[in-house]
Amino acid sequence: MTHLLHRSIQSDLPVAARGEGVFIYDRDGKVYLDASGGAAVSSLGHGHPDVLKALHAQLDTIAYAHTGFFTTEVAEKLADRLIEDAPEGLDKVYLVSGGSEAMEAALKMARQYFVETGQPGRRHVIARRQSYHGNTLGALAAGGNALRRTQFSPLLIETHHIAPCYAYRHQHEGESLENYGARAAGELEDKILELGEDQVMAFVAEPVVGATSGAVPPAPGYFRKIREICDRYGVLLILDEVMCGMGRTGTLHACEQEGISPDLLVIAKGLGGGYQPIGAVLLSGRIFEAFEQGSGFFQHGHTYMGHPMAAAAGLAVQDIIRRDNLLANVMAMGAHLTDCLAQRFGQDPRVGDIRGRGLFQAIELVENKETKAPFDPAFKIHARIKREAMQRGLMVYPMGGTIDGREGDHVLIAPPFIATKTDIETIVDRLGAAVDAATQSIGRA
Ligand code: PMP
Repeated sequence: MTHLLHRSIQSDLPVAARGEGVFIYDRDGKVYLDASGGAAVSSLGHGHPDVLKALHAQLDTIAYAHTGFFTTEVAEKLADRLIEDAPEGLDKVYLVSGGSEAMEAALKMARQYFVETGQPGRRHVIARRQSYHGNTLGALAAGGNALRRTQFSPLLIETHHIAPCYAYRHQHEGESLENYGARAAGELEDKILELGEDQVMAFVAEPVVGATSGAVPPAPGYFRKIREICDRYGVLLILDEVMCGMGRTGTLHACEQEGISPDLLVIAKGLGGGYQPIGAVLLSGRIFEAFEQGSGFFQHGHTYMGHPMAAAAGLAVQDIIRRDNLLANVMAMGAHLTDCLAQRFGQDPRVGDIRGRGLFQAIELVENKETKAPFDPAFKIHARIKREAMQRGLMVYPMGGTIDGREGDHVLIAPPFIATKTDIETIVDRLGAAVDAATQSIGRA
């Protein structure tokens, strides 16, 4: 009997013993193709020798130095590097240990910005239903994932939610994608006016939605309209690129494909590729200046922020992605993944939608393709697919999302950026077999 809580709850978990490239080996020697990068984390794959070298070198100099006493060359280099490649207007980097921590920091930055600039009435956060921004109380409050929130809701600050931009579910018949996007974005303006123009501090959204809905890209023009509305009412735009960022969709930042810049950009996961826990907030010069001219500091902090080992991992991973031109591979292998998924699942009556960008794609499962009715949540079809895939040596990331209050199911595919054509074909083959086995297990062909 283990004392490790997560194994105690999931007693059938294999013990990961070694990782190499796109593969993880368990203690019994079974090989798993990591087609989800864990939870879209392993951007470079496992055991990359150049990352290990950089980590060893950092360990030989200094492993930890508190940011209240010191800065380190490696943290400064990473920050400079992130700003060099950042969307326009972002000027400073706040380094923390993961996505939720980064989201908490971003929310507090938005609040402090308005306190420092004499607008203390601005306190409301607007986000979208079917969203996830982290599990700490502030980030959980921002998210609109009913399942994760319910039992903690008395502890959560009040936030406000509008509909997500989710064409497969919400586009009207005969409505163009552009018109649908404008209609979905218009909900933000309505909500701001409902709450009071000078009461809202931030709107939070993922450019391409990850775990809650499965690689859902925005309708064209949606984020440009969102940006305009935020500017019109002086609301800060926080983009959560924890999952979809750092190259996963084929550009370093997913928002580049929308032609907009946020005021605060939240990144994590792929930044350090899983070699160390790391997350960051990239903030605009305007927000930093408000802190500088106000109280002089950002009223926040964590013991492990700016951790040199984490910064070394982030820097090494990002250097290698640039050096080896891996974003081009994300684009090329992403296109191949789209083709293979279309071939395998395009005519499949159980697959309602195939979508995504780069190496961030998903299939959405339905009981009825015509009506788009999801499978009965009691079947937990996503959990069955995960089990069947693991048996076949494949890691994918299936989730029950929330479709109009009901649980729906999708499978997220997010392999490392080094994936080859053969890897992509193996992923789709094994996924097809896992979906067949899972649906057969509930009596559906
Ligand atoms: N935001 C998004 C979009 C995420 O997908 C996640 C993690 N799944 C988080 C925030 C939270 O990140 P972390 O788990 O590193 O705290």
